[in-house]
Amino acid sequence: MHPIQILILGGTSEAAALARLLAGRTDIGAMISLAGRTKNPAPLPIPHRIGGFGGPEGLAAFLAENRVAALVDATHPFADRMSANAVAAARMSGVPLLALRRPAWQAQAGDRWTEVADAEAAVAALGARPRRVFLTTGRLELPAFLAAPQHFYLVRSVDAPEALPPLSRLILARGPFAEDDECALMQAEGIEAVVTKNSGGTATYGKIAAARRLGLPVILLRRPAVAEVETVSTAEEALAWIERRV
Ligand code: NAP
Repeated sequence: MHPIQILILGGTSEAAALARLLAGRTDIGAMISLAGRTKNPAPLPIPHRIGGFGGPEGLAAFLAENRVAALVDATHPFADRMSANAVAAARMSGVPLLALRRPAWQAQAGDRWTEVADAEAAVAALGARPRRVFLTTGRLELPAFLAAPQHFYLVRSVDAPEALPPLSRLILARGPFAEDDECALMQAEGIEAVVTKNSGGTATYGKIAAARRLGLPVILLRRPAVAEVETVSTAEEALAWIERRV
């Protein structure tokens, strides 16, 4: 069997779900690639590699060297550089590309959302008056909030950020998070606003539902625009696409 027929660009629960579907398959060789951002990534049931490829050219070279038959971009919807690299590398190497991407959350009746382009715009949307903010944008977006130290931030991330705003409390945790628990946490911390990314999916939707239940405003970072490629939203659909190609 060919060692890497399928390369999955991972770092998401969807990529892990696809890896689980492929784990028992002796007829499909698959490898998952991680950026190396998380110190202790959750264990994966298929071989993996860690670290950047060196831009689109590096990824194209990896695909060629390993004679990869198909590429699945299952990175996070906010990992727009990697997704752009995947499109370019697939074009350069002629390897078919599928995006496995969860749909964005859509506002429902009762939601009080302000959608913004980036972390700086989220800071502006918080305003000047000190507020108690639940901040779950991920540690890489955190530096922008240092510019608004008047707010208290309940920061939740997988790994510790390098610097925290002066008024803050850090919770290190990895989802999924249930709506009832999110509600209890926000009430206990006296949260007045939630700032998060429109990641989509179910694992972190609890805070959105909890904010709706509590009538709290949510400042939501809009997804970056990515090139249009063939896209599915579940690991099962991705497996069906893979099966058609190997
Ligand atoms: P990014 O800004 O789109 O990518 C920056 C660089 O990191 C890429 O150019 C690539 O380096 C490398 N890289 C990214 N994903 C990779 C992967 N799966 N395998 C190998 N190299 C990768 O990415 P990011 O937003 O920092 O996200 C990094 C990782 O964290 C991704 O795997 C993503 O799925 C995961 N993640 C991101 C977020 C988020 O909010 N951004 C949330 C949860 C999980 P080279 O150019 O050298 O190849």
